[in-house]
Amino acid sequence: PVKVKKAEPITLIDTKEGKKIPFLALCKVFEAIEATTKRLEITALIRDFFVQVMDIDKEELTDAVMLCIAKVAPDHEGIELGIGESILLKSIASATGRQIQKVKQEHQALGDLGVVVERGKSNQNTMFKPKPLSISKVFHTFREIATTSGSSSIQKKTGLITGLLGACTNVESKYLIRSLEGRLRIGLAESTVQTALAHAARIRENDGDSDSLAPEDFLQATENLKQVLSEFPVYTHVIDSIYKYGINDIANHCTLTPTLPVKPMLAKIEKAADDILRRFEGKPFTCEFKYDGERSQIHYVADGDETQCVIFSRNAENNTAKYPDIASSVKEFAGPNVKSFILDCEAVAWDKINGKIRSFQTLSSRKRKVENEAEITVGVCCFAFDLLYLNGEALIRMPLRKRRELLREHFVPVQNKFQFAISKDLTEVEDIQEFLELSIEENCEGLMIKTLDGSTSSYEPSKRSMNWLKLKKDYVDGLGDSLDLVVIGAYFGKGKRVGAYGAYLLACYDPDREEYQAICKIGTGFSDADLESHKEKLDESRISAPKPYYAFSEKTKPDIWFAPTVVWEVKAADLSLSPIYQAAYGEIDPSKGVSLRFPRFIRIRDDKTPEMATSSTQVAEMYESQKINH
Ligand code: ATP
Repeated sequence: PVKVKKAEPITLIDTKEGKKIPFLALCKVFEAIEATTKRLEITALIRDFFVQVMDIDKEELTDAVMLCIAKVAPDHEGIELGIGESILLKSIASATGRQIQKVKQEHQALGDLGVVVERGKSNQNTMFKPKPLSISKVFHTFREIATTSGSSSIQKKTGLITGLLGACTNVESKYLIRSLEGRLRIGLAESTVQTALAHAARIRENDGDSDSLAPEDFLQATENLKQVLSEFPVYTHVIDSIYKYGINDIANHCTLTPTLPVKPMLAKIEKAADDILRRFEGKPFTCEFKYDGERSQIHYVADGDETQCVIFSRNAENNTAKYPDIASSVKEFAGPNVKSFILDCEAVAWDKINGKIRSFQTLSSRKRKVENEAEITVGVCCFAFDLLYLNGEALIRMPLRKRRELLREHFVPVQNKFQFAISKDLTEVEDIQEFLELSIEENCEGLMIKTLDGSTSSYEPSKRSMNWLKLKKDYVDGLGDSLDLVVIGAYFGKGKRVGAYGAYLLACYDPDREEYQAICKIGTGFSDADLESHKEKLDESRISAPKPYYAFSEKTKPDIWFAPTVVWEVKAADLSLSPIYQAAYGEIDPSKGVSLRFPRFIRIRDDKTPEMATSSTQVAEMYESQKINH
């Protein structure tokens, strides 16, 4: 493992709850991380901190891990930080004794609230020294802030944040504000935090000695932890199991559990039917229709008369309130012996009268929260393509053929509500081509092609796997894939579009640099109704200055900026090199980025977070691959 400057030993502070780890110790690590760009060094810095914290206290380790990823709860609980700019500005003004207008101006000039508050605090004369903050105090107050709702919630939140800011010293206020914004922006990705935690656990289990461990030991520990978290995404429980059973044995104690979302398996793009046989090298495979709806992971568990059904999106969000009709039909499609299950399905808008699939656009007009089933206007049918868990047993390591057998044995199609994904186990290119055409006639997007037997056909949570290929009609026709891009700004409309926005600035995401890079301006593909609803939705995340992690050039500067919240799917004629757009900057040409020619809006991607947008590496790959095709 990489060696870094030895971390200062943690000196505990006295608090009402007893001796605790100071928040400042963690902030000092953040500061060191921010000063380097070397990934191994970043991992080592946070690892060494975790090694110390592990010896002090389990709960504080969990709190520290959550602060590192700027979260207060697992994603599926829907409790998020990401406090609005106006509350933060108010709290900074009150904690630093300045006019809110002044704080706003400084924010516009400096572009970073973290720096604004740090400056404000350092100019302040404090008469008495505030009590130092502990890691757990900060974490628990963050949770309280995130869960406060109701009529006077703005006041309460502002009060709590002002209180924390008042107690900050040194660099604490900067990281505190950034965490409240929902991102630390120090180059510390969640996957790095997981690696550091796994390494720390392995070192601790080797009595604090890292030198006698081999690289494979670290690799094994990291793989274990990542695998477990993709199947059981609850840090509190996983960390508890590390203490109880050791990092190499956690997989046996944190297994798939209905009501906890599994990170979905993803597919690689395949451009032509005849490449599939080559890719699978003689392994048997199945071709399924690729339905165009919303991925839905249905969880069900019955305990006596008590039953619970939870439906998760691709993004681990709890979508049960959107699909009460699916939840209430479980009893019809699950066989009599089914007591618990996790199904992987696509929920598709459905025309009951003609028994046909409706468009994705129709599905998007369904409300996010349906109060009463009777008010549903867009019916859905679920197309099940995988069974991950059945009656107390995880099935993901079984071959797909076996999982499919169990699916068909224990579940029954229900007209207009539930069906199995249509599939054919094919071997000839012509047959695949024909089946692809059929899928398009049936309003599907193309085919998903999956290996059927052996270990390569197990369900791989969170992986974009070579064992699942997606073959869309567009690829076959040479049109290329669409991109999922984040809306970061807007330009005022002219002529017919006065009053609405005339065009938007879109960005891809670079996870290594943690920045959104401008890729194109888009003004085509919108209906008048689209323009109105986009404006309404985007105006909620309007901000007064661009985020410091937006990469754009003056030439493309929009009139209005937005926080990164909305993801749009976009198609373009092709990708071209550009001196004014920053996407994949330097990856192909040292002084140019990549832009889209003639981009066209396709749809909103509610099921993707901004970090799941097309990455700059994918943009570079798409640019390169079109060169080959031409
Ligand atoms: P990606 O998930 O690959 O980043 P994406 O979200 O845009 O991209 P697609 O490229 O369209 O998704 O393909 C994968 C998605 O197709 C799945 O997440 C799932 O929602 C959907 N899907 C439809 N039918 C199937 C099927 N038979 N098997 C697996 N997934 C299917």
